[in-house]
Amino acid sequence: MIRIQHIGEFNSIQLDVLRLDEVHPTISGNKWFKLKYNLQEAQNQQKNTLLTFGGAFSNHIYAVAHAGKEFQFQTIGIIRGEELANQWQTNPTLSEAVSLGMKLYFVSRNEYREKEKGTVFQEIYQRNMYVIPEGGTNEHAIKGTMEIITNEHSNYDFIACSVGTGGTISGLSLAAKSHQTILGFSSLKNADFLHQEIERFSHKKNFKLFLSHHFGGYGKVTTELMEFITLFQQKYNVPLDPIYTAKMMLGLTQEIEKGSFAKNSKILAIHTGGLQGVKGMKIALQKKHNETQHEK
Ligand SMILES: *Cc1c(COP(=O)(O)O)cnc(C)c1O
Repeated sequence: MIRIQHIGEFNSIQLDVLRLDEVHPTISGNKWFKLKYNLQEAQNQQKNTLLTFGGAFSNHIYAVAHAGKEFQFQTIGIIRGEELANQWQTNPTLSEAVSLGMKLYFVSRNEYREKEKGTVFQEIYQRNMYVIPEGGTNEHAIKGTMEIITNEHSNYDFIACSVGTGGTISGLSLAAKSHQTILGFSSLKNADFLHQEIERFSHKKNFKLFLSHHFGGYGKVTTELMEFITLFQQKYNVPLDPIYTAKMMLGLTQEIEKGSFAKNSKILAIHTGGLQGVKGMKIALQKKHNETQHEK
Protein backbone atom coordinates (compact mmCIF):
# COMPACT_ATOMS: atom_id res chain seq x y z
CA MET A 1 0.00 0.00 0.00
CA ILE A 2 1.30 3.45 -0.86
CA ARG A 3 2.00 5.74 2.07
CA ILE A 4 -0.16 8.81 2.67
CA GLN A 5 1.78 11.46 4.55
CA HIS A 6 -0.08 14.18 6.40
CA ILE A 7 1.50 17.60 5.80
CA GLY A 8 -0.78 19.97 7.70
CA GLU A 9 -3.74 22.33 7.73
CA PHE A 10 -3.41 25.59 5.82
CA ASN A 11 -6.27 28.14 5.69
CA SER A 12 -8.47 25.33 7.11
CA ILE A 13 -7.53 23.07 4.22
CA GLN A 14 -6.05 19.64 4.83
CA LEU A 15 -3.04 18.74 2.72
CA ASP A 16 -1.68 15.20 2.44
CA VAL A 17 0.86 13.65 0.08
CA LEU A 18 0.65 10.26 -1.63
CA ARG A 19 4.23 9.03 -1.77
CA LEU A 20 4.43 7.36 -5.20
CA ASP A 21 8.14 8.15 -5.06
CA GLU A 22 8.36 5.14 -2.75
CA VAL A 23 6.63 2.54 -4.99
CA HIS A 24 9.88 1.21 -6.44
CA PRO A 25 13.52 2.11 -5.72
CA THR A 26 14.36 2.94 -9.35
CA ILE A 27 11.19 2.70 -11.47
CA SER A 28 9.77 5.48 -9.39
CA GLY A 29 6.58 7.49 -9.08
CA ASN A 30 4.11 7.75 -11.93
CA LYS A 31 6.60 6.06 -14.29
CA TRP A 32 6.02 2.75 -12.49
CA PHE A 33 2.29 3.00 -13.21
CA LYS A 34 2.83 4.20 -16.77
CA LEU A 35 5.18 1.33 -17.59
CA LYS A 36 3.32 -1.49 -15.83
CA TYR A 37 0.93 -2.43 -18.67
CA ASN A 38 3.38 -1.41 -21.38
CA LEU A 39 5.80 -4.03 -20.06
CA GLN A 40 3.01 -6.60 -20.03
CA GLU A 41 2.06 -5.66 -23.57
CA ALA A 42 5.67 -5.93 -24.75
CA GLN A 43 5.85 -9.39 -23.19
CA ASN A 44 2.53 -10.42 -24.78
CA GLN A 45 3.78 -9.29 -28.17
CA GLN A 46 7.01 -11.24 -27.55
CA LYS A 47 9.20 -8.23 -28.13
CA ASN A 48 12.70 -8.35 -26.73
CA THR A 49 13.61 -4.66 -26.90
CA LEU A 50 12.06 -1.47 -25.53
CA LEU A 51 12.69 1.65 -27.59
CA THR A 52 11.84 5.08 -26.28
CA PHE A 53 12.69 8.80 -26.34
CA GLY A 54 13.68 11.48 -23.86
CA GLY A 55 15.77 14.45 -22.80
CA ALA A 56 19.03 14.60 -20.86
CA PHE A 57 17.53 14.27 -17.37
CA SER A 58 14.48 12.24 -18.34
CA ASN A 59 12.83 10.29 -15.53
CA HIS A 60 11.19 8.18 -18.23
CA ILE A 61 14.52 7.17 -19.84
CA TYR A 62 15.86 6.27 -16.41
CA ALA A 63 12.77 4.21 -15.56
CA VAL A 64 12.80 2.36 -18.90
CA ALA A 65 16.50 1.53 -18.52
CA HIS A 66 15.81 0.05 -15.10
CA ALA A 67 12.65 -1.73 -16.25
CA GLY A 68 14.61 -3.34 -19.09
CA LYS A 69 17.17 -4.65 -16.65
CA GLU A 70 14.58 -5.94 -14.20
CA PHE A 71 12.20 -7.49 -16.75
CA GLN A 72 14.78 -8.75 -19.26
CA PHE A 73 14.36 -6.44 -22.21
CA GLN A 74 17.11 -4.78 -24.16
CA THR A 75 16.64 -1.04 -24.19
CA ILE A 76 17.26 1.78 -26.65
CA GLY A 77 16.97 5.48 -25.89
CA ILE A 78 16.77 8.18 -28.56
CA ILE A 79 18.02 11.28 -26.77
CA ARG A 80 17.30 14.93 -27.59
CA GLY A 81 20.52 16.91 -28.18
CA GLU A 82 23.47 15.86 -30.35
CA GLU A 83 25.90 17.70 -28.06
CA LEU A 84 25.26 15.08 -25.37
CA ALA A 85 27.00 12.43 -27.48
CA ASN A 86 30.36 13.39 -25.94
CA GLN A 87 28.99 14.44 -22.56
CA TRP A 88 26.75 11.62 -21.40
CA GLN A 89 29.45 10.33 -19.02
CA THR A 90 29.01 13.41 -16.82
CA ASN A 91 25.22 13.20 -16.92
CA PRO A 92 24.04 10.99 -14.03
CA THR A 93 20.77 9.97 -15.73
CA LEU A 94 22.34 8.97 -19.03
CA SER A 95 25.42 7.30 -17.55
CA GLU A 96 23.20 5.20 -15.29
CA ALA A 97 21.08 4.22 -18.31
CA VAL A 98 24.20 3.17 -20.22
CA SER A 99 25.51 1.18 -17.26
CA LEU A 100 22.21 -0.73 -17.23
CA GLY A 101 22.75 -1.64 -20.87
CA MET A 102 20.63 0.99 -22.60
CA LYS A 103 21.93 1.88 -26.03
CA LEU A 104 21.69 5.61 -26.66
CA TYR A 105 21.31 7.49 -29.94
CA PHE A 106 21.74 11.26 -29.84
CA VAL A 107 19.78 13.37 -32.30
CA SER A 108 19.43 17.07 -33.01
CA ARG A 109 16.43 18.93 -31.65
CA ASN A 110 14.99 19.17 -35.16
CA GLU A 111 15.33 15.49 -35.75
CA TYR A 112 13.97 14.77 -32.29
CA ARG A 113 10.80 16.69 -33.10
CA GLU A 114 10.28 14.25 -35.96
CA LYS A 115 11.41 11.36 -33.81
CA GLU A 116 8.74 8.87 -34.65
CA LYS A 117 9.34 9.13 -38.38
CA GLY A 118 12.93 10.44 -38.27
CA THR A 119 15.91 8.85 -39.98
CA VAL A 120 17.62 7.50 -36.86
CA PHE A 121 14.43 5.81 -35.84
CA GLN A 122 14.02 4.18 -39.26
CA GLU A 123 17.64 3.03 -39.28
CA ILE A 124 17.42 1.20 -35.99
CA TYR A 125 13.78 0.15 -35.87
CA GLN A 126 13.15 -3.59 -36.04
CA ARG A 127 10.12 -5.80 -35.61
CA ASN A 128 11.27 -7.11 -32.26
CA MET A 129 11.10 -3.62 -30.73
CA TYR A 130 8.30 -2.32 -28.58
CA VAL A 131 8.09 1.45 -28.97
CA ILE A 132 7.03 3.56 -25.99
CA PRO A 133 6.30 7.23 -26.75
CA GLU A 134 8.13 10.11 -25.08
CA GLY A 135 7.16 10.35 -21.43
CA GLY A 136 5.50 6.94 -21.77
CA THR A 137 1.99 8.23 -22.45
CA ASN A 138 -0.27 5.84 -24.38
CA GLU A 139 -3.44 3.87 -23.66
CA HIS A 140 -1.54 1.26 -21.61
CA ALA A 141 -0.02 4.02 -19.50
CA ILE A 142 -3.46 5.47 -18.81
CA LYS A 143 -4.68 2.06 -17.68
CA GLY A 144 -1.79 2.04 -15.21
CA THR A 145 -2.22 5.58 -13.91
CA MET A 146 -5.91 4.83 -13.27
CA GLU A 147 -4.66 2.57 -10.46
CA ILE A 148 -2.93 5.40 -8.57
CA ILE A 149 -6.07 6.43 -6.70
CA THR A 150 -8.47 3.92 -5.20
CA ASN A 151 -11.43 3.75 -2.81
CA GLU A 152 -8.95 4.40 -0.03
CA HIS A 153 -8.65 7.98 -1.29
CA SER A 154 -12.34 8.76 -1.74
CA ASN A 155 -12.41 11.06 1.31
CA TYR A 156 -10.39 13.67 -0.63
CA ASP A 157 -12.13 16.49 -2.51
CA PHE A 158 -9.11 17.35 -4.65
CA ILE A 159 -6.29 15.26 -6.09
CA ALA A 160 -3.30 17.33 -7.25
CA CYS A 161 -0.54 16.25 -9.61
CA SER A 162 2.24 17.58 -11.74
CA VAL A 163 1.64 17.53 -15.50
CA GLY A 164 4.11 16.86 -18.33
CA THR A 165 2.52 15.04 -21.25
CA GLY A 166 -0.83 14.69 -19.48
CA GLY A 167 -0.86 10.89 -19.14
CA THR A 168 -0.98 10.82 -15.38
CA ILE A 169 -3.72 13.41 -14.98
CA SER A 170 -5.80 11.59 -17.62
CA GLY A 171 -5.69 8.37 -15.60
CA LEU A 172 -6.53 10.25 -12.40
CA SER A 173 -9.43 11.97 -14.15
CA LEU A 174 -10.84 8.62 -15.29
CA ALA A 175 -10.38 7.02 -11.87
CA ALA A 176 -11.75 9.88 -9.76
CA LYS A 177 -15.04 9.65 -7.86
CA SER A 178 -17.84 11.94 -8.99
CA HIS A 179 -17.26 14.38 -6.08
CA GLN A 180 -13.53 14.71 -6.77
CA THR A 181 -11.68 17.30 -8.87
CA ILE A 182 -8.19 16.76 -10.25
CA LEU A 183 -5.79 19.72 -10.09
CA GLY A 184 -3.01 19.60 -12.67
CA PHE A 185 0.07 21.82 -12.39
CA SER A 186 1.98 22.18 -15.65
CA SER A 187 5.77 22.31 -15.48
CA LEU A 188 5.82 23.57 -19.08
CA LYS A 189 5.23 27.08 -20.30
CA ASN A 190 2.49 27.68 -22.93
CA ALA A 191 0.80 24.43 -22.07
CA ASP A 192 -2.70 25.18 -23.38
CA PHE A 193 -2.38 22.16 -25.67
CA LEU A 194 -2.75 19.98 -22.57
CA HIS A 195 -6.54 20.38 -22.59
CA GLN A 196 -6.68 18.58 -25.93
CA GLU A 197 -4.09 16.02 -24.92
CA ILE A 198 -6.07 15.04 -21.85
CA GLU A 199 -9.33 14.94 -23.81
CA ARG A 200 -7.75 12.29 -26.04
CA PHE A 201 -7.82 9.93 -23.06
CA SER A 202 -10.42 11.24 -20.64
CA HIS A 203 -13.91 12.34 -21.62
CA LYS A 204 -14.51 13.72 -18.12
CA LYS A 205 -14.53 17.41 -17.27
CA ASN A 206 -13.43 16.84 -13.69
CA PHE A 207 -9.97 18.36 -13.96
CA LYS A 208 -8.64 21.89 -13.67
CA LEU A 209 -5.29 22.88 -15.15
CA PHE A 210 -3.01 25.49 -13.58
CA LEU A 211 -0.72 26.71 -16.35
CA SER A 212 1.09 29.62 -14.68
CA HIS A 213 3.10 27.88 -11.94
CA HIS A 214 5.87 26.72 -14.31
CA PHE A 215 8.60 28.94 -12.75
CA GLY A 216 10.17 29.81 -16.08
CA GLY A 217 9.28 26.74 -18.10
CA TYR A 218 10.31 23.14 -18.48
CA GLY A 219 13.71 22.40 -16.93
CA LYS A 220 13.95 25.99 -15.63
CA VAL A 221 14.07 26.89 -11.96
CA THR A 222 13.94 30.02 -9.80
CA THR A 223 15.62 30.82 -6.48
CA GLU A 224 12.18 30.79 -4.86
CA LEU A 225 11.60 27.26 -6.13
CA MET A 226 14.98 25.98 -4.94
CA GLU A 227 14.46 27.52 -1.49
CA PHE A 228 11.02 25.95 -1.29
CA ILE A 229 12.56 22.52 -1.94
CA THR A 230 15.01 22.95 0.93
CA LEU A 231 12.30 24.23 3.27
CA PHE A 232 9.85 21.46 2.40
CA GLN A 233 12.49 18.81 3.01
CA GLN A 234 13.45 20.33 6.38
CA LYS A 235 9.90 20.90 7.60
CA TYR A 236 8.11 17.79 6.35
CA ASN A 237 10.89 15.42 5.38
CA VAL A 238 9.54 15.18 1.83
CA PRO A 239 12.15 15.42 -0.94
CA LEU A 240 10.86 17.21 -4.06
CA ASP A 241 12.38 17.39 -7.53
CA PRO A 242 12.77 20.80 -9.21
CA ILE A 243 11.30 19.82 -12.58
CA TYR A 244 7.89 18.50 -11.54
CA THR A 245 6.91 17.86 -7.94
CA ALA A 246 8.27 21.09 -6.43
CA LYS A 247 6.41 23.16 -9.01
CA MET A 248 3.20 21.35 -8.19
CA MET A 249 3.66 21.68 -4.43
CA LEU A 250 4.66 25.35 -4.48
CA GLY A 251 1.91 26.11 -6.99
CA LEU A 252 -0.60 24.30 -4.82
CA THR A 253 0.55 26.18 -1.71
CA GLN A 254 0.17 29.47 -3.55
CA GLU A 255 -3.33 28.56 -4.70
CA ILE A 256 -4.29 27.55 -1.15
CA GLU A 257 -3.01 30.92 0.14
CA LYS A 258 -4.98 32.72 -2.57
CA GLY A 259 -8.13 31.03 -1.32
CA SER A 260 -8.75 29.00 -4.47
CA PHE A 261 -10.32 26.12 -2.52
CA ALA A 262 -13.29 26.07 -0.15
CA LYS A 263 -12.60 25.89 3.60
CA ASN A 264 -12.42 22.36 5.06
CA SER A 265 -11.43 20.89 1.70
CA LYS A 266 -9.16 17.89 1.73
CA ILE A 267 -6.39 17.77 -0.85
CA LEU A 268 -4.25 14.77 -1.73
CA ALA A 269 -1.12 15.79 -3.64
CA ILE A 270 0.48 13.00 -5.65
CA HIS A 271 4.25 12.80 -5.31
CA THR A 272 5.02 11.54 -8.81
CA GLY A 273 8.71 10.84 -8.06
CA GLY A 274 11.45 12.26 -10.26
CA LEU A 275 14.08 12.32 -7.54
CA GLN A 276 16.70 10.67 -9.75
CA GLY A 277 16.83 13.95 -11.70
CA VAL A 278 17.91 16.06 -8.72
CA LYS A 279 21.59 15.10 -9.02
CA GLY A 280 21.82 16.07 -12.70
CA MET A 281 19.92 19.30 -12.13
CA LYS A 282 22.35 20.30 -9.36
CA ILE A 283 25.33 19.69 -11.65
CA ALA A 284 23.70 21.73 -14.42
CA LEU A 285 22.91 24.62 -12.05
CA GLN A 286 26.44 24.60 -10.63
CA LYS A 287 27.86 24.70 -14.15
CA LYS A 288 25.64 27.63 -15.06
CA HIS A 289 26.60 29.40 -11.84
CA ASN A 290 30.31 28.94 -12.55
CA GLU A 291 29.87 30.26 -16.09
CA THR A 292 28.12 33.43 -14.91
CA GLN A 293 30.77 33.92 -12.20
CA HIS A 294 33.36 33.64 -14.92
CA GLU A 295 31.72 36.32 -17.03
CA LYS A 296 31.79 38.83 -14.15
C1 LIG B 1 7.03 12.23 -16.08
C2 LIG B 1 6.69 12.95 -14.81
C3 LIG B 1 5.55 13.76 -14.69
C4 LIG B 1 4.64 14.04 -15.84
O1 LIG B 1 3.76 12.98 -16.07
P1 LIG B 1 2.83 12.99 -17.36
O2 LIG B 1 2.09 11.73 -17.29
O3 LIG B 1 3.75 13.05 -18.55
O4 LIG B 1 1.98 14.20 -17.31
C5 LIG B 1 5.28 14.33 -13.47
N1 LIG B 1 6.11 14.17 -12.42
C6 LIG B 1 7.23 13.43 -12.50
C7 LIG B 1 8.11 13.33 -11.33
C8 LIG B 1 7.56 12.80 -13.69
O5 LIG B 1 8.68 12.07 -13.77
